[in-house]
Amino acid sequence: MLHLPEPIGAVFVTLIGLVVGSFLNVCIYRLPHGLSVVHPGSRCPSCKTPIRWYRNIPVLSWLVLRGRCSACRAGISVRYPIVETLTAALTLWIWLRYGLSAEFAVAVPFAWAMIVLFFTDLDTQLLPDVVTLAGVAAGFASAWFNPFLGEPGIHRIWMALSGCALGGGLLWTVGALYSRLRGVEAMGFGDVKMMAFIGAVAGPQGVLFAIFGGSVAGAAAGWALIPLRGRSMQSTLPFGCFLAPAGLAALLYARQVIGWYLGLLVPGG
Ligand SMILES: [Zn+2]
Repeated sequence: MLHLPEPIGAVFVTLIGLVVGSFLNVCIYRLPHGLSVVHPGSRCPSCKTPIRWYRNIPVLSWLVLRGRCSACRAGISVRYPIVETLTAALTLWIWLRYGLSAEFAVAVPFAWAMIVLFFTDLDTQLLPDVVTLAGVAAGFASAWFNPFLGEPGIHRIWMALSGCALGGGLLWTVGALYSRLRGVEAMGFGDVKMMAFIGAVAGPQGVLFAIFGGSVAGAAAGWALIPLRGRSMQSTLPFGCFLAPAGLAALLYARQVIGWYLGLLVPGG
């Protein structure tokens, strides 16, 4: 019995995750400003010296250079290796859960998009259209092959459409009500488009799971941060930062959790 292929696959997937994570760093810093993610190549954020490929190896280069630019010695944020490690870890996790499958092909790019949206929202309170709207389009284009949308066939197309409409519609309604009641702009349309994206990939069940999970996490974090920020509930945390992990959890676990919950309601069912 030769058990080699399994660890080799895991190592390969982790390396891919690290390289993609390095690209996601570029996306996170450039997309909110409408800049190209391919040109120019990687540069030191401080002195703009182009970074040579052998000094641009994910995580390792940052460790070897001790988080400093090799030209000007300016500090380079620990965020770079964190995003690379997170991307590799999530990619490996999905690989270990599903292996080479349609689930993997859908969940991995979705997870990468959620990482980008989490950090752009954290940094700039922006959720770039090139991620959210492209995500909606990709969700529809892949719906036929997307096992997270249920049984094969036309049913999946319907699930993608209804998930997209429910996700976008619910968030738009909540936002409109909130700004009417409080007289403040509750959320930008970025959140609406992000939720439409999550719905197009994870379906209506995923939408309910993600909104519920994101709201609970957001409320908990809001209360936890009150001592730090003062009692100003106006200084809301960017909701996309909660929707991103909730959206990924919804894609991977919603059907399982809802099935388990229905099982509790209907014993033996
Ligand atoms: Zn520099």
